[in-house]
Amino acid sequence: MFKNLLKNLNQKTGYVFRLDDIAPNMRWEIMDKVKILFNKYNVKPILGVIPKNEDKELKLYPICKFNFWEEMKNLSNQGWVIAMHGYEHLYEIYCKKNDYLGHGGNSEFVGLSYNDQLKKLSSGIEIFKKKNIDIKVFFAPNHTFDLNTVKACKELGIKTIIDGYGLVPYYENQILFIPQLFYKLKSLPIGIQTIQLHLNYFSDSDYIDLEKFIIKNEKKIISYEDACKFQRDFFTDKIIRIIIKKALQLKRLAA
Ligand SMILES: [Zn+2]
Repeated sequence: MFKNLLKNLNQKTGYVFRLDDIAPNMRWEIMDKVKILFNKYNVKPILGVIPKNEDKELKLYPICKFNFWEEMKNLSNQGWVIAMHGYEHLYEIYCKKNDYLGHGGNSEFVGLSYNDQLKKLSSGIEIFKKKNIDIKVFFAPNHTFDLNTVKACKELGIKTIIDGYGLVPYYENQILFIPQLFYKLKSLPIGIQTIQLHLNYFSDSDYIDLEKFIIKNEKKIISYEDACKFQRDFFTDKIIRIIIKKALQLKRLAA
């Protein structure tokens, strides 16, 4: 076990960017800046696109002046990964930590029957299909989903969920999870991590920090496809997942 733990410490470090709440209504002026930045450093992020945004808060942001779906298709052609981020991004459910990752809080999915979830997710996938965008990656609004969500994703051909604990991508219930631990730009010395960016909340200093982070970690920023290659599930990885889960839950309680 100790030998395996050492192997863990020697493993590759890599960061993948995950952009949340991509929808026709959003702060496009920030998105434009980030797009230029990502292109400059050849960063290929994962875009969490809401197929049918009905979230009133998100709808307050300005609507794009171009064809949203054409833009998504263009970005996909450039190697940016289009992921499905929920269906309508509506929080009609409040869950008490009975979700898959034990976060609790607002949810679009937790507690709904398998069939209801299958319907929501397949309606979302249909919207992408009509725009010629193939969906293989999913992540839920507010990180809240349950086993039925995972099963429905699997049924619909989704291969990966961008969420979960741990330091390496891992398979669970026949879906690949790429861990997503922090809400801020944090560089862990080891492991493959997804870094979540909410452009709608971005300040000027957040943008400057992002640029600095990219310059400092240029060689460690990887694509979704690269991250998938580091999938692994040693016994020590499972132990590390449990430790990180507990530590982050305690941190959230203390916050
Ligand atoms: Zn969201």
